Amino acid sequence: MVLNGKAAIVTGASRGIGRAIALALAKEGAVVLVNYHGRADAANEVVEAIQGAGGRALAYQADVANPAEAQAMVKAAQTEFGKVDILVNNAGITSDNLVFRIKDEDWDAVIGTNLKGAFNCIKYAGRIMFRNHFGRIINISSVAGIAGNSGQANYCAAKAGLIGLSRAIAKEFGSRNITVNTVAPGVIYTDMIRSLPENVRENMLVQVPLKRFGRPEEVAGLVVYLASELAGYITGQTINIDGGMVCM
Ligand code: NAP
Repeated sequence: MVLNGKAAIVTGASRGIGRAIALALAKEGAVVLVNYHGRADAANEVVEAIQGAGGRALAYQADVANPAEAQAMVKAAQTEFGKVDILVNNAGITSDNLVFRIKDEDWDAVIGTNLKGAFNCIKYAGRIMFRNHFGRIINISSVAGIAGNSGQANYCAAKAGLIGLSRAIAKEFGSRNITVNTVAPGVIYTDMIRSLPENVRENMLVQVPLKRFGRPEEVAGLVVYLASELAGYITGQTINIDGGMVCM
């Protein structure tokens, strides 16, 4: 187990990619705070699965876009686990529309959860990592933040912003043995994708050289690697996991 003795926070861990990341980190020995927003039932199921496999986890409700709630969540992890070694900023939402039709509140909500949420968590968890001279921060962006996507100006702006945020923090935190990296998934089969019309999903699939959608567990495997000692010399990087959709 490559994460024995490590303490992790995974935001948006009740469903989809975050759920798979929480389970994978726990399987490798980390204790995990399973953050959720509205779905307590789903978060509790993740905690029970971790505990059932002999691990340790805590479900915690917080809106990451709210600085006070993000701060309280980090404090809860510190109280429960004594430290925070790994922060995975995964919580994310979409509110798609052509730019002329994006309402101010939909712009703010998408930027708030996807980008400011990560800033809030980094600000508070980063202090603990700074004191401990160790940390792994992994921000879940999207290939949409690299290539752009029609109808997703708010989402693309937030996800591109996460890449810049990661690069800046990698430079600020590097001297304290804290790595900061971005994972940019392509199309991963979760509720976010299931909720799209079938013709939109079919159009997405056409753009994937591997001719299938990704699995949450595949993203989780990359996150485990970046969180482990094996990835200790990787920082400030963006790694695509997209079946070859966007090649750079
Ligand atoms: P999902 O299935 O829709 O799950 C979203 C998760 O985020 C849920 O656990 C949800 O909590 C949580 N959440 C939403 N708003 C929150 C808030 N304000 N505070 C805290 N938690 C919040 O999404 P997913 O597909 O797994 O996506 C996970 C991440 O990967 C997102 O950042 C997404 O943008 C990114 N991504 C996904 C894909 C894809 O194809 N699926 C591709 C590229 C990038 P509740 O369950 O409590 O509502």
